[in-house]
Amino acid sequence: MATQTRRRPAKKSAKKSSKKVAHAAKSRPAKRRTKAPAGKKSKLVYYFGKSKTEGRAAMKELLGGKGANLAEMTAIGLPVPPGFTITTETCAAYYEEGRQMPQGLEDQVRQHLARLEKETGKKFGDEHEPLLLSVRSGSAVSMPGMMDTVLNLGLTDAAVRGLVEATGNERFAYDAYRRLLNMFGDVVMGVDHEHFEAAFTTIKEKYGAAADTDVPAEGMKELCEAYKAVYREHVGRAFPQDPFAQLMASVEAVFRSWNTPRAVSYRRINEITGLKGTAVNIQTMVFGNMGDDSGTGVAFTRDPATGENKFYGEFLVNAQGEDVVAGIRTPQHVDEMGKWTAPGFPTIGKQVHKSLLRIKDVLEDHYKDVQDLEFTIERGTLYILQTRAGKRTAASAVKIACDMVKEKLITEQEAVLRVPPSDLTQLLLPGFSPLAKEKADVLTRGLPASPGAAVGRLAFTAEEVVERAAVGEQVLLVRKETSPEDVDGMHTAAGILTSTGGMTSHAAVVARGWGKCCVAGAGDIHIDEQNGTIKVGGRTFGRDDWISLDGSTGAVMTGQIETQEPELSGHFAKLMKWADKYRTLKVRTNADSPVDSQRAREFGAEGIGLCRTEHMFFEGERIIAMREMILAETLEAREAALAKLLPYQRDDFVGIFTAMKGLPVTVRLLDPPLHEFLPHDDQSQRELAQATGLSLETIQRRVSQLHEANPMLGHRGCRLAVTYPEILKMQVRAIVEAAITCRKNKIKSMPEIMVPLVGSAKELGLLRGHIEETIALVKKETRFGGKLDILIGTMIEVPRGALTADEVAAHAQFFSFGTNDLTQMTFGFSRDDVNTFLPDYLKHDVLEKDPFQSLDTSGVGQLVSMACQKGRAARPEIKLGICGEHGGDPASIDFCHQVGLAYVSCSPFRVPIARLAAAQAAIRNAVKPAPAKKRTAKKTTKKAATKKTTKKKVAKKTTKKAAKKTAKKVAKKVARKVAKKRPAKKTAKKTTRRRR
Ligand code: PEP
Ligand code: MG
Repeated sequence: MATQTRRRPAKKSAKKSSKKVAHAAKSRPAKRRTKAPAGKKSKLVYYFGKSKTEGRAAMKELLGGKGANLAEMTAIGLPVPPGFTITTETCAAYYEEGRQMPQGLEDQVRQHLARLEKETGKKFGDEHEPLLLSVRSGSAVSMPGMMDTVLNLGLTDAAVRGLVEATGNERFAYDAYRRLLNMFGDVVMGVDHEHFEAAFTTIKEKYGAAADTDVPAEGMKELCEAYKAVYREHVGRAFPQDPFAQLMASVEAVFRSWNTPRAVSYRRINEITGLKGTAVNIQTMVFGNMGDDSGTGVAFTRDPATGENKFYGEFLVNAQGEDVVAGIRTPQHVDEMGKWTAPGFPTIGKQVHKSLLRIKDVLEDHYKDVQDLEFTIERGTLYILQTRAGKRTAASAVKIACDMVKEKLITEQEAVLRVPPSDLTQLLLPGFSPLAKEKADVLTRGLPASPGAAVGRLAFTAEEVVERAAVGEQVLLVRKETSPEDVDGMHTAAGILTSTGGMTSHAAVVARGWGKCCVAGAGDIHIDEQNGTIKVGGRTFGRDDWISLDGSTGAVMTGQIETQEPELSGHFAKLMKWADKYRTLKVRTNADSPVDSQRAREFGAEGIGLCRTEHMFFEGERIIAMREMILAETLEAREAALAKLLPYQRDDFVGIFTAMKGLPVTVRLLDPPLHEFLPHDDQSQRELAQATGLSLETIQRRVSQLHEANPMLGHRGCRLAVTYPEILKMQVRAIVEAAITCRKNKIKSMPEIMVPLVGSAKELGLLRGHIEETIALVKKETRFGGKLDILIGTMIEVPRGALTADEVAAHAQFFSFGTNDLTQMTFGFSRDDVNTFLPDYLKHDVLEKDPFQSLDTSGVGQLVSMACQKGRAARPEIKLGICGEHGGDPASIDFCHQVGLAYVSCSPFRVPIARLAAAQAAIRNAVKPAPAKKRTAKKTTKKAATKKTTKKKVAKKTTKKAAKKTAKKVAKKVARKVAKKRPAKKTAKKTTRRRR
């Protein structure tokens, strides 16, 4: 901690509010009181120190992470400078009452200050040995550097003389004072830092000092006078000589810093929601810059980069906390600490190092996790100023979790909960070398649509990609948005960059399926396909320019950034084994080729939840037959074209069923609007005319006939099969023939036929009839007498399908929630164009997160819950799953677990993520008390508590059982909620009728 170096230029927010702040401070905080936070009658402040400690680590919500940990460390006997914490609720009350300091706060601060003075034996603002304080923010979730801090509070013209007297170090004392003047002026009163900086430059020139540290004591004294003048000039009155007024104004400044634009943006970007506000930690200052027997540093209890169980840290002698972080001086590794000596204290380094190692063990043993700590040594005495869970790379997170189980520090379940599922992506895909990435020139950012790293030159059409790749070039496909026509080029490209489209746009979905890097919706990029250039931020790039895409962050960078291959360790396999042991949800994959199916299987997929058959129609010759089929104007012509497609489809299915042998494969019948398969430019239409023998005019006429104003709401999904049952029949025939072929080859295939976009039971009833007839026909034709057990089901992706799920279930053996379309239709947001306005929705908090990435549980989720409940009511054995992109999103997976789905399905590379997320959902929800009636809740809590203490072996069973139980309860609860919204009688009637 200690004092702070000169700050960055004052933040805009501070500048903007300067006038307002000045006014506020004039009218003294004590006079502006409002009521105390609701509920908690009067306890606004919690003390931590030797005389008493009121908080604990578990009180993060109330005391913020920093405050809760300061209390915890004090309670377990670690050397923490004493202090007290103002609660996050107090901050919330400050805002609730229109930025008024809550009633009673000042009195409580005074009481706690008196206790602190008693404990330290020093007086705040004393003229002989003053107590100095730091005021720091700290919310429940760490927001590093986002909020404000004021150090050295309590220094005044009189107290600074006292500090000189107490320390015998004039330079140190005036240095501390000038820092307070600067910080208080900047942070609390909004004075632009530049004004202080200018005064410092004048003093440095006067003393011929190159660095700040060269200014002698005399110069520091003069600087304090100069700073006071700056303060007076810009604030309009003198720097407060009342230490308590300094303190309360600083507390208010920290409250205000909770809502500066940068803090608000940080919370939005990091999806931090639901917090009350920031706590304020007021703590005794200790100084690492009091001489050669003082110092400061930061350390991790294990290496955060590799996970190795080795104390890792850096320190500086005679320095302040900021110096280590700011890189002003080069710190030494803690391993070197033993060599540190000080006049009259030759073993200082050895002793401090020994104490640190002991504290490291205490902390890990206590927190059962890697800790990131800050320490300061003041005249040979070691203090711990902060501890928090150490941030770590994915690889080290996995290793640390496994090691800690081995060391018996944590259980397997805890290990499973320790690794953020999305971080696994870092382990599975190539990425950029972190060093190279740090130095990269970032042009713009789009959506992190499909993770990985891609480097290439720019190509503007799918054909161009294929041509240039064929001669060995490494290219990126750059398009406004992709369409199914582009798949060849997309597959061949090193990566994909689009300027429009959201997380479920074509480019994003297809790229994720392949594990290909894609940045989508980079709206700042203007693509000029004609001239082969892109323009971004006033710069232009062409076909010969290299660009690097980071699909994990959405960054678009210039040049060729160095990449690195992923390394999968044995620890990864171990963690996944534990995940599989605890999860109850099955994990399938969305795949439409044998290669992808095989890869997904290697990643642990337990079947295919969505095989999008449309992707199979684009390769080579097939697209011509497909186009013939679409252009056909008679049934005969269409059937002739379909006959050409049949063998392709059948072979594809044989390949996929073989790759997934013994596992279910859900094949979805044709879904996209037909015009997506047709060429739209003149040149391609001419080529098609040549290939099919049709006239150009015929092609143009059919293309224009098939044009739809709203294709996503148009002639697609099951609606195609209603108009053209022959398409459905060809596809079903291919599935059945493939299944029979597999059977002959002794390969166990388990096909499931899925009808897309069903909105009414009658649609499905009609199509189910065609499907059953075709299955029977093919069996008869092939003289196959065995059982095939092909399930027939539907996607629930149209709100009406969900609303009438009980009726639909009469014809469906399974539901698979197509949450991409369901989100699109529930919100009325076009999934392909949403990115034109979604950023504004996120910026203004209209939405917390992109609903195409993470399921909107309160809206779309309600439809899902209701459909599950209605589906089960009509057909208790119905199989329920999800195959929208949300099936790979950890938060959505938690929801799926809670509503009791049987499986989630996601792209192959997200399968391990989903396995881990499913396990976390099972573990987390199993120990949660059921939120039912009060009595039941009590019982469940007791049960859960007992469960916690049972041995590992029992744990698995318990977890699975409890998870199922909780899932059912939640589903019921949600269903109850839904039922409340509709007349109960009607719902019951409908269900009964269906059951009969
Ligand atoms: C869906 O809508 O969620 C879905 C999986 O289908 P598609 O993305 O192919 O429309
Ligand atoms: Mg869909």
